[in-house]
Amino acid sequence: MSGPRLILILGDQLSRDLPSLVAADPARDVVVMAEVFEEASYAPHHVKKLAFVFSAMRHFAQDLRADGWRVDYARLDDPDPAPSIEDAMTRAIVRHSPAGLVCTEPGEWRLQRVMEGWTTRLDLPCRIFADTRFLCARDAFAEWAEGRKSLRMEYFYREMRRAHDLLMQDGDPVGGAWNFDAENRKKAPRDAVFPSPLKIAPDAITEEVLAMVEARFPESFGVLRPFWFAVTARDAARAADHFMANALPGFGDVQDAMVEDERFLNHSVLGQYLNAGLLNPLDLCRRAEAAYRAGDAPLNAVEGYVRQILGWREFMRGIYWREGEDYIHRNVLGATRALPEFYWTGDTDMACMKAAIDQTRTEAYAHHIQRLMVTGNFALLAGVNPHQVHEWYLGVYADAYEWVEAPNVIGMSQFADGGIVGSKPYAASGAYIDRMSDHCRGCRYDVKKKSGPDACPMNPLYWDFMLRHRDRFASNPRVARAYSTWDRMAEDTRAASRLSAGAVLARLDAGERI
Ligand code: SF4
Repeated sequence: MSGPRLILILGDQLSRDLPSLVAADPARDVVVMAEVFEEASYAPHHVKKLAFVFSAMRHFAQDLRADGWRVDYARLDDPDPAPSIEDAMTRAIVRHSPAGLVCTEPGEWRLQRVMEGWTTRLDLPCRIFADTRFLCARDAFAEWAEGRKSLRMEYFYREMRRAHDLLMQDGDPVGGAWNFDAENRKKAPRDAVFPSPLKIAPDAITEEVLAMVEARFPESFGVLRPFWFAVTARDAARAADHFMANALPGFGDVQDAMVEDERFLNHSVLGQYLNAGLLNPLDLCRRAEAAYRAGDAPLNAVEGYVRQILGWREFMRGIYWREGEDYIHRNVLGATRALPEFYWTGDTDMACMKAAIDQTRTEAYAHHIQRLMVTGNFALLAGVNPHQVHEWYLGVYADAYEWVEAPNVIGMSQFADGGIVGSKPYAASGAYIDRMSDHCRGCRYDVKKKSGPDACPMNPLYWDFMLRHRDRFASNPRVARAYSTWDRMAEDTRAASRLSAGAVLARLDAGERI
């Protein structure tokens, strides 16, 4: 074979153990990396996310070059930047006359379809490696799922624990149970003090990227500075060390809690590094397990953390690829309302929503309960079009890539897949948020009121949602009790609730402040 092979590395494939890189020959092959406008703009990406990916890519390319690789790197601020990944590959083919193309499977159907067409369109053999950085291959998940009446993460997770010998003792789960979630739902104590994630000062490369993002994406969502993300595997590893030592021990108990003005609590805030390839999932799980075995972190914290990575993250990916490319358009509840403008501005009187959206604007981060039970819950209750909700989440979070975001949003949060991911809709009234946070204390609305202009909007909207979908959910044992509660309410209470829900939705549709 003559000529080099072109080894494509995408912005979320920044790992030295990437299969296409492992299979490459630095003496012969050329690595292709490209910052392209199509990838930067197909979702409304947060400016911090854009800066993180571009800077991490530039650092990765620099490290490869230092190790002797030839890297063909296309910058977004080049005089004639490539508009798309395919265009970048076409230009690289002209420059290098390669013998073939080598890729690792991408993180979404859109690019998968593009790559599958390259052998024909670019007239070169194109090999696509399976992404072995994940702990469950796509076909292994499909095999596990085949023939099951319903797919539940818990059973998948147990098999993954066994397969990877994580938190196991003589074939049984350590501590005698697979899941300690029941211990992880405490409200945060008023005097609790939380560590901050490790913050890294931008270097010259990152500063150059920040200036580029400011110049080229002036209208994009989010606050760019201060920018503190790690952009190299080395610094991401330091951030992981910091989490393991300072936050993991307290991660479990208040994992679901929300605190006004506390953006990170004990959460790892490592997802953006993990999903871009700067950290390895099995390594994080093993390190958390080592902390437990050394007596440095309790089991409920470590098991909860391992479950997120080994269980939930892999399960989401398996669902995404198994369900196919139409998954992001599913809408079994027929929700059609437009995403309210305040999701972009934080301009709302609902204290819980304001806190979640404001910190999303500032940090490109919110934790799982803020995403699921605050912003996701409101969109579900209000009947917002799930594809618009999906696009919002895909854009605004630094850790969001479609393979993980879509099943979380379309499935878990919006129930738009009809129950493939979740066995019930995650719909809640204000009482849940009041139980798990201190937001309601300072809210303009009264969480105890069920109707009227001062009632927490989540309360009437909750019942409105449940009643809209009574036919679908009345026979679901996990939510059926809600209908008996509704049926036992006094007629005038029910009427007032319906009236309030209508008023909230009318204000929403009129673009009035909620
Ligand atoms: Fe959110 Fe309702 Fe509580 Fe206000 S009262 S913070 S809207 S749950």
